[in-house]
Amino acid sequence: MFNQKKSLHYSDIRPLKWIPVSEPNLSGKEKEYVMDCIESGWISSKGKYIELFEKSVSNYVGSRYAISVCNGTCALHLALLSIGVGNGDEVIVPSFTYVASANAVRYTGALAVFVDCEKDTFNLDVNSLESYISPRTKAIVAVHLYGHPCDMDKILSIAKKHNLYVIEDAAEAFGSEYKGKKIGTIADIGVYSFFGNKTITTGEGGMVVTNNRVFAEKAYLLKTQGVSSNKQYFFEVMGYNYRMTNIEAAIGLAQMENIDDFINKKRKIAASYSSKLSAIRGLKLPIEKSYAKNTYWMYSIVVEDEFGMSRDRLIDTLMKAGIETRPFFYPCHRLPFYDNLKVKLPVCEEISKRGINLPSSTKITEADIDYVANAIENAYRK
Ligand SMILES: *Cc1c(COP(=O)(O)O)cnc(C)c1O
Repeated sequence: MFNQKKSLHYSDIRPLKWIPVSEPNLSGKEKEYVMDCIESGWISSKGKYIELFEKSVSNYVGSRYAISVCNGTCALHLALLSIGVGNGDEVIVPSFTYVASANAVRYTGALAVFVDCEKDTFNLDVNSLESYISPRTKAIVAVHLYGHPCDMDKILSIAKKHNLYVIEDAAEAFGSEYKGKKIGTIADIGVYSFFGNKTITTGEGGMVVTNNRVFAEKAYLLKTQGVSSNKQYFFEVMGYNYRMTNIEAAIGLAQMENIDDFINKKRKIAASYSSKLSAIRGLKLPIEKSYAKNTYWMYSIVVEDEFGMSRDRLIDTLMKAGIETRPFFYPCHRLPFYDNLKVKLPVCEEISKRGINLPSSTKITEADIDYVANAIENAYRK
């Protein structure tokens, strides 16, 4: 069912024009701060940039605690461990997400229970959520996909009713808002990713944020190998080395100095695409619910039958014009190691085959957006 053929690759065609689906924007003080690390010798996981970066993130999102880690997957793993998820527990996760949201649950020994997603936001389907809750359910992972926040009030009220924790996977939605509050800070604990294609990047990197001191202390202890804070070289628990380096934090701090520009640019890109593509029939464009500020991490469209060309052919057609795109995620419940063919989650199975992420880097020009929109319109007319 999901035997999508391998798409054309850049190296197969070497087009004259090349618009990447995503590209980091390192035009601020990144180089200066990294050079400072190298010249001062503080290149490992100690040094002033770690704390500066953590402070800058916690101030920006409005969380009491921010714990930097080496990537977003580790951040999810720590968040789950910090709230006490482990063997024998069940955690509800949307199937339509990046695989790390589910894998982190499995790392703890808990079972990932998959739910379907909403047609319009692609986020977990709040209406069916409750039917997946069992006596073993411990937590819900709310993934804010492609920049659009989940409907947090509804999720939190279901969680409260059943006494469950809620973790926000805000890897793709740094800076997005739910009713005026930065996502990641609305539930019990939240995580961000700073991979190279995310809204801000540190190369590889991630952050756990929370207002709960107990969770924050546990996340910090586990991140630093479980080492005691008062007995030298004594280990309280079996922990991990999930530390971020000073160099990564230096890049992150420089990125944070441009965060408002990045988000304004993402929103402008989305507005441009939407105004240019809205006349084309058979394309579903991203939305912004009344409760949301969407940061449009990746401008994401769904190709319907009326468009007249399949999603996969459109991807190849755009690639031939030098436009890199990305197909939507495969639903996690259909991946070989989660393989559960009995589970039917029709909405995500359908949009997974029809969705495309368009080039959305903050470095994209208005002319490039025009070029992409025209290429899609030409494909439609053919
Ligand atoms: C990127 C991402 C992650 C994982 O982040 P890494 O830094 O790549 O480990 C987790 N969840 C979602 C939804 C993501 O997009």
